[in-house]
Amino acid sequence: MCGIIGIVNQAPRHQAAPDLYVGLINMQHRGKQGAGIVTYDGRRYYAEKGPGELAQAFIIPSSYEARQKLAQLLASQGNEEQWTHILPPPSVSSMLGNSGIGHTRYGTAGISSHLNLQPIEGSFHGEPFFLAHNGNLVNAKRLRQTARLSDGFSDTVVITTILSQSQERNFEQALLGLIRDLEGAFNFMVLYRGFVYAIRDRFGFHPLTIGRREHADGIDNIVASETCALDVLRASRVREVKPGEIVRLEPNGHITTMHFTQDTNIKLDIFEFIYFLRPDSQWYGVEAGQARYQMGLQLALEHPLDVDTIIPIADSGNEAALGYWEGLALRGSRAIFRPWGLFRPHFVSRTFIEPVQSQREQYLRLKFNPRQSQLYNRHVAVVDDSIVRGNTIAATLRLLKEAGVASVSMVVSSPPYRYPDFYGIDTYRIQNELLAQSLNGNTQSVAKSIARRFGLRKLGYLSLVATLKSVSQLSDGWLKSKDFYTGPFTGQYPAGLGDFAT
Ligand code: AMP
Repeated sequence: MCGIIGIVNQAPRHQAAPDLYVGLINMQHRGKQGAGIVTYDGRRYYAEKGPGELAQAFIIPSSYEARQKLAQLLASQGNEEQWTHILPPPSVSSMLGNSGIGHTRYGTAGISSHLNLQPIEGSFHGEPFFLAHNGNLVNAKRLRQTARLSDGFSDTVVITTILSQSQERNFEQALLGLIRDLEGAFNFMVLYRGFVYAIRDRFGFHPLTIGRREHADGIDNIVASETCALDVLRASRVREVKPGEIVRLEPNGHITTMHFTQDTNIKLDIFEFIYFLRPDSQWYGVEAGQARYQMGLQLALEHPLDVDTIIPIADSGNEAALGYWEGLALRGSRAIFRPWGLFRPHFVSRTFIEPVQSQREQYLRLKFNPRQSQLYNRHVAVVDDSIVRGNTIAATLRLLKEAGVASVSMVVSSPPYRYPDFYGIDTYRIQNELLAQSLNGNTQSVAKSIARRFGLRKLGYLSLVATLKSVSQLSDGWLKSKDFYTGPFTGQYPAGLGDFAT
């Protein structure tokens, strides 16, 4: 899925790198296969990237002395009020420049190659530029031929190569020309000279929000995939980058806007609200956590189970489980909510991204520890946001049985995941493993056969109507059902399938 961020600080002595780093830490959940930061100080670029989570990609100093030295370095750069507790690693702190971009990489299959780590460097008539991407293109095959590149290169490398080969003299014209040629889902962050360009595709599949910070020596403009990153950087939210828009952040504190097309059609990826966004992030004014809570309330209306204990699959099921519990209580249920019934330590992150099945299974055991004191002999309802391949549910069931539950049912705060995604979550690479993919019939019969397969007493999926309503009703009528991309549930792909249509 990836997280991207761009910053241009008006005051030249305000370094962008520490803020880019902290912004990326707060978007770590969007991808942990790699991370990168590039800054520009008016003369040269500073680039650092590496595989893994941020702490691995930019090796964190462990000794107290090293951290003290860094604190002094940052203070000497005028950064003393910020990040004295979360010190960025030395490689980041020594990156100079008041503008820059950053990226956390998400991949679903295979081992990621260093070549594909972002931001990717290009050269426009001999001048460097850097590009970071969130999304997935559906016409990359043709673009790859134009760029004369082989299959091993990511879409982002292909685009950077095409831009580097452009005969156009003006960078922005070249960028506009390139973007008009792209199909699929893309949010880009581009760094060229001291400017950052933030670009969102014409459907606006994924989030990209503009934030702003004002202080005595100027204005800092920030654009990030998630508002939680803006919050932590103490930037106020200005607005979303619009579908079909290019926003340019300038060193003089201004932002200017261009549109690469008027042919826009908003289709927010509903899976961002279901799963991807951090619960404290807002998109179009709707907080993801609140939307999930609504989904839980709706689940209680559609599937009021007769259980005595409710547990979430942490963290993805937390808010929906709370809503479900409160919704059942409104209907007279006396079930107990046990948020830590399956205890999840903080140090284990998302499992889905592990490339190999056996690793995913080991990781799931590491991720959850069932609490016998809360589960023994109980009739439990487990709440999660989605069933994709079924790994989580299979592992969870084993654990709950070990803890001696009397029975397990499950409610899921989204519809059956039946079709692959091609626009950034990229489940097309695992389409044969999608659990609901080969099951025919309506939602009820899909639920029944999955429940039978896993020995669940009952399984209830939230209807699509209720899923969309949970978000739209929080938007003051702003967002309607037609404004969402629902491909994994409906098989409808507004940007087409391009290369994937075979
Ligand atoms: P699975 O175990 O394959 O059924 O995956 C479903 C679980 O993974 C759910 O608990 C989701 O919260 C989580 N999940 C769903 N989609 C993704 C994704 N694209 N990346 C990471 N985790 C995901």
